[in-house]
Amino acid sequence: MQILVVGSIALDSVETPFGKIEEGLGGSATHFSTSASFLSPPYLVGVVGQDFPQQHLDFLASRGVHLEGLQKKEGKTFRWKGRYEFDLNTAHTLDTQLNVFLSFYPELPSSYRNKEIVFLANIDPELQMKVIEQAQNPKLIALDTMNFWISSKKEALIKTLNKVNLMFINEGEARELTGESNLVKAARKIRSWGPQTIALKRGEYGALLFHGDEIFSAPGLPLEEIKDPTGAGDSFAGGFLGYLAKSGDLSFNNLKKATIYGSVMASFNVEDFSLDRFRRLKNEEIEMRYQEFMKLAHF
Ligand code: AMP
Repeated sequence: MQILVVGSIALDSVETPFGKIEEGLGGSATHFSTSASFLSPPYLVGVVGQDFPQQHLDFLASRGVHLEGLQKKEGKTFRWKGRYEFDLNTAHTLDTQLNVFLSFYPELPSSYRNKEIVFLANIDPELQMKVIEQAQNPKLIALDTMNFWISSKKEALIKTLNKVNLMFINEGEARELTGESNLVKAARKIRSWGPQTIALKRGEYGALLFHGDEIFSAPGLPLEEIKDPTGAGDSFAGGFLGYLAKSGDLSFNNLKKATIYGSVMASFNVEDFSLDRFRRLKNEEIEMRYQEFMKLAHF
């Protein structure tokens, strides 16, 4: 199977207790694509401004990410500025500049329309809907979002969710979106809006997978080196969907393995700023960490 992804491509300025980066490569689609590229390089749709450094595009191309659907527009690239507290669990957005996203129409090249897996990474839910409208018979439509869209475009988000099979969401966002503090109730409410599968991310505590009446719990790997959690959620989705695409199997048993691949890729991403850990990641390390997760969950 192949993956189509739409989402943000950004220049991120991030500060954590362990350092900071100014205008580094970021964005939901970028983190997702780089993570997925280790398993199944996706077909990317997005927009950058004239100021976007060519070296970042070269990096994505070097990872095998398909860039035919990437638009370069007059104006400035999307920018996000964030800060994390000492426990690294919550991102505080200091500034969001939509820039070229304000006038973006996600036009799918014709060769992109028949991809089996569609991933709507964190972006305006109205743009996510425009991508669904152009996709032809996908087997799986997955969506991610964040508090920015939950608070500013909740109605559009719920409308888009109606067309979605799988939602990736972190626990804080799930509570905010549903108004339920209990996560099982929150997942049930999201399911009533459309998605039958929910991958609920709990930061360092792991992830819960809700699928029909089944629940799977993936552990969080106790990591010693965490520098920057930005993009952990997108890297999780990249590992998850990359594994599904590579294996071509959408059964619940395989969704469980996908949850572990998602956790593996997220655990690497947080070990350095921006996408720097992925720049030096080797395939053998991915398999070794998958085994570590298996050992951790086995008793
Ligand atoms: P994550 O930490 O996985 O939730 O995603 C972080 C990425 O989301 C960063 O690299 C940001 O550039 C990007 N981002 C932040 N705010 C937005 C937004 N409002 N819309 C789309 N992408 C965003």
